[in-house]
Amino acid sequence: MNIILLGPPGAGKGTQARVLCEKYSLVQLSTGDMLREAKKADSEIGKRAAAIMAKGELVTDDVVIGLIEDKIAEGGNVEGFIFDGFPRTLGQADALEELLMKTGQNLDHVIELFVDDNKLIERITGRFTCSSCGELYHKATKPPKEKGLCDICGAAGSFKFRQDDNEDSLKTRLLAYYRDTSPLIGFYHAKKILRKIDGLGSIDEIQKNIKNVIGKFN
Ligand code: ADP
Ligand code: ZN
Repeated sequence: MNIILLGPPGAGKGTQARVLCEKYSLVQLSTGDMLREAKKADSEIGKRAAAIMAKGELVTDDVVIGLIEDKIAEGGNVEGFIFDGFPRTLGQADALEELLMKTGQNLDHVIELFVDDNKLIERITGRFTCSSCGELYHKATKPPKEKGLCDICGAAGSFKFRQDDNEDSLKTRLLAYYRDTSPLIGFYHAKKILRKIDGLGSIDEIQKNIKNVIGKFN
């Protein structure tokens, strides 16, 4: 089963992807995470992407398609993928279809998480991650149980905020979403694989709604 999570920055794609992966034994492919890793490793791609990401603009299609192509190729024996933050343009959507076709796979569900813009700002400006295990937190809605300690891996003082999680960059990211990515909603609707989910509510509620909709269409 292959799933795309579609939605503006802060809609909860990463959070839901992590839970779904476990439940359905899928592999999460987040181009945002891959680009941040490339930046950390100071690779050629990372260096080129860093400035674009900080501003909140989109990295070019060929770069992200290349990253995804490598991951699908090395996929091995997985049950499928959850694409998180990819595709973000119609060009990327076409490329993904081709890549999957080459390996005899289909797209099964495109889950659109919709959330009001004001709520997105709140979510984005309060979120942070454990740099040891990648667990996602939010200062208001999902703080660690013990201050400074990761619930999952126990690491101390390992929390980090994203450089692009500020209001300026978020404005650009939202614009990019509505201009370049939202046309994918119509694209997948026409293919009858678009599932709309209200992205407001608790993590568990949204998770339940996603599972229900997957069950209904499988
Ligand atoms: P968010 O969805 O919260 O904006 P991501 O982690 O998915 O965050 O992406 C962070 C940044 O990485 C984007 O603003 C963009 O610059 C770049 N990026 C990630 N995925 C893509 C993609 N598929 N196409 C182009 N740029 C991307
Ligand atoms: Zn951790």
